[in-house]
Amino acid sequence: MAALPPNDKVGHKSDPNSVGRIVALENEDERVCANGASKPVSLAELEPVPAFAELSPEEFKRKFLSIYKPVSILPPDQYMTLVLQATEGCSHNRCTFCTFYRDRSFRIKTLPEFRRHVAQVKEFMGPAMRMRRTIFLADANAIVIPEQLLVSMLDVVNASFEITPAGENAVLYKLSHPEAFDGVYAFVDAFTTRYKTVDDFSKLAMRNLRRVYIGLETGNDQLLQWVCKAGTSADAIDSVRKIKGGGVSVGVIVMIGIGGRRFSQQHVADTVRAVNSMGLDQNDLVYFAEFIDSLGSDYSRIAARDGVEPLTHEEMRVQMASIRAGLSFPGLAPPMSVYDIHEVSMAVMNSGTVVY
Ligand code: SF4
Repeated sequence: MAALPPNDKVGHKSDPNSVGRIVALENEDERVCANGASKPVSLAELEPVPAFAELSPEEFKRKFLSIYKPVSILPPDQYMTLVLQATEGCSHNRCTFCTFYRDRSFRIKTLPEFRRHVAQVKEFMGPAMRMRRTIFLADANAIVIPEQLLVSMLDVVNASFEITPAGENAVLYKLSHPEAFDGVYAFVDAFTTRYKTVDDFSKLAMRNLRRVYIGLETGNDQLLQWVCKAGTSADAIDSVRKIKGGGVSVGVIVMIGIGGRRFSQQHVADTVRAVNSMGLDQNDLVYFAEFIDSLGSDYSRIAARDGVEPLTHEEMRVQMASIRAGLSFPGLAPPMSVYDIHEVSMAVMNSGTVVY
């Protein structure tokens, strides 16, 4: 499981409404973070997980890879989610800074295939499913699935799992259904919502889609073009407004340090402008992901070609502080947190999957 970033809102004991309701204990020896757990649990309280315990690591890996493509990345508040891969890969897959889905071609599963996948996941997880608090529709931008098929897939999810309904009765429902999942979550990209309407998102919200995570990266269109990210900042703003209009929350991901010194000033100014135009509130999230340039990536090759120098760690810290200082919201501000991509990348390198 991911360690909590220092000085971060996530998981702070005094902030019970913090992102993902991660609970941290004071005593380091006992510390267990349980995303969405109704109370803190100690290691001694955790039961062994029979379905997994019976498998050797090799068998586990083989079985896992017969059901899943590697889970490349998840939002930090979704590390204890049950992943269902409705799609494989990314429909764009060309951003120069991102290598998460370069190992697979993009494809959308058919409805019977998705139904089979859900059944296999349920059987594979067995009692371990109790540890999962939410459902994550993967891979990179599952919301790109044509609306009718997406609705049918969510119907399969709702028929297969008990999900706490949104709204005022959620707390009461949770008391009598402690093992119910806390909604469905997914990634989305600005360009994937061009053909979706507010009404489409209402239909998804009615089927328990609670939040989607959108990689804004930057509000600067030149920088978006330079890193080959599809869509513009106006598309991202429009997407967020559409999604929220349909009753689904958003997690907006801003990249710190992308475009190095060359783009820094415009990146700060335009990102502040874009995030401030999205109409975010306390139900949404803003994540700051520190840009990591992996050696040999398209980004580092193009940056070297164009003389774009990376920011130092201290410059990134200042950039993040400048963006945060510029943000203003009409009502209560959304929680903000660090998105530690490096941590996720290490997990992927070590195991080929995240947490599983
Ligand atoms: S759209 Fe998202 S997942 Fe796809 S390549 Fe770009 S950053 Fe990566």
